[in-house]
Amino acid sequence: MVFQFWPLGRAYAMAWIGGSMAWELQRHGDAACVDYMRNGLREIFGARALTLFPGTDAVVTQWGADALFRGAYAYALPGHAEARGRLGQPLADGRLIFAGEACREDGLAGTVGGAWLDGRRAAGIVTAALAAG
Ligand SMILES: Cc1cc2nc3c(=O)[nH]c(=O)nc-3n(C[C@H](O)[C@H](O)[C@H](O)COP(=O)(O)OP(=O)(O)OC[C@H]3O[C@@H](n4cnc5c(N)ncnc54)[C@H](O)[C@@H]3O)c2cc1C
Repeated sequence: MVFQFWPLGRAYAMAWIGGSMAWELQRHGDAACVDYMRNGLREIFGARALTLFPGTDAVVTQWGADALFRGAYAYALPGHAEARGRLGQPLADGRLIFAGEACREDGLAGTVGGAWLDGRRAAGIVTAALAAG
């Protein structure tokens, strides 16, 4: 779990949870996510840190359960970053291609910019394949 405190100078903290733990917590609901976050805070900073977050006004986003998103972004396993490039390789003579941040190997994985550039890359390949017949 990664924490971000006072993002953009605002008085709140964000906790980021991904992978299998995120799917597991999602099954248990928002309260379980908040508990997990508070335990994480306590482990890293000690019990006193919890006094900074006394209320119950936490917001849990649950990106994985949102039908418009179904997740957040992709992580390559350690030592397997090259899998991103393989994922973006055209299939069926360029008529089928996966695109998005997950396919970027240029440092833009996990970003909107990477997703945008990769969509353009894929569209160019498909257009060329269709034009070639
Ligand atoms: C909380 C959060 C904060 C972020 N902050 C930033 C930021 O500040 N700056 C930044 O650059 N990036 C940020 N990102 C990352 C950025 O949003 C993503 O990298 C980008 O949206 C990925 O775009 P994409 O098109 O590759 O994938 P997505 O936008 O994830 O598109 C994938 C699509 O596939 C659909 N889908 C999934 N499964 C199926 C299926 N089986 N069948 C059909 N459709 C399916 C999904 O519904 C989704 O519409 C953030 C992401 C999150 C979650």
